[in-house]
Amino acid sequence: MKYVDEYRDPTIALALAGRIAHQVTRPWVLMEVCGGQTHTLMRAGIDELLPRDVELVHGPGCPVCVTPLEMVDRAIRIASLPGVIFVSYGDMLRVPGSRSDLFQAKAIGADVRIAYSPLDALQIARANPDRQVVFFGVGFETTAPANAMAVWQAKHQGLTNFSMIVSHVLVPPAMRLILGSPANRVQGFIAPGHVCAVMGMSEYEDLSREFGVPIVVGGFEPVDLLEAIAMLIAQLEKGRAELENQYVRSVNYQGNLAAQAVMHEVFEVSDRKWRGIGSIAASGYRLRETYADFDAERIFGMEDVTAEEPAECISALVLQGLKKPVDCAAFGKRCTPLMPLGAPMVSSEGACAAYYQYRRHAANNSL
Ligand code: SF4
Repeated sequence: MKYVDEYRDPTIALALAGRIAHQVTRPWVLMEVCGGQTHTLMRAGIDELLPRDVELVHGPGCPVCVTPLEMVDRAIRIASLPGVIFVSYGDMLRVPGSRSDLFQAKAIGADVRIAYSPLDALQIARANPDRQVVFFGVGFETTAPANAMAVWQAKHQGLTNFSMIVSHVLVPPAMRLILGSPANRVQGFIAPGHVCAVMGMSEYEDLSREFGVPIVVGGFEPVDLLEAIAMLIAQLEKGRAELENQYVRSVNYQGNLAAQAVMHEVFEVSDRKWRGIGSIAASGYRLRETYADFDAERIFGMEDVTAEEPAECISALVLQGLKKPVDCAAFGKRCTPLMPLGAPMVSSEGACAAYYQYRRHAANNSL
């Protein structure tokens, strides 16, 4: 299949790995921002193919992992109310809240349904005019356009029984937090190609200039990631710090202007709490006042529900590249995909789930 097979070609992958090995003269720490990239790296064994001097740490780009605990608790409370149909992406159902999860709420009678798009939730609302339909709108800049479009359509179709929990977060503020930390080890970033396909590249150019760090916009197949790593190593070895685009088949400088327009119409930038990490200034979206009638947290009076994160889960450190999943005492013991303590063990984009699934069980296996 064009644009897929050539990016999974083992001959090309091995040639790139050889190029990286030839380029490296000293240790470098790189972060892939997106959890989808983390899973490709583990699944393809790229972490084990790289020279010992290239260390990969894993970033915060897993939407399920960073959705705050209190948002999950609010979702469970709303889903459990009589007359509500609660609609969510499947990954969110198993994310633990303070005392239960959405699956358990469903098991004891809540009407919780899985959807692949917020537009499915709109369809459910149209088909059930006597019920309140609530969609759990989580994710980064990638899912925000469809969620914004669903709210915009609900308003323009006059739907009064549809609302959304908006828990959107933005990548650049999280990268800024990582780069600004005195504990930061990351020397180069693979930026998330799908986010840049929506938002364009200018925010990453600003970060690269401000912090003097090389950033390469990367794709999601093994060859994409190896090429992005080779581009980063080439910059680092030559003392350059620039923004480059490996994912040219999908990303241009401006991004998707139509998607940006609908997001801007419906959402405004706000401070956001990130699971485990806490509040990051201007790091997410909330509904604009003109769309307040679709704000499920307001409608159901959930804005004051708060929750304490479990101390045992070190996901905040994992998501900032300060620890690896295997550094967590609970990894593979008290925390497994069947009995997760934290969201990174649940999500198909979570770093802990990737380490568990691809058997990176030893603390030094990436060294
Ligand atoms: S292994 Fe489990 S408890 Fe440890 S950081 Fe990952 S999700 Fe949290």
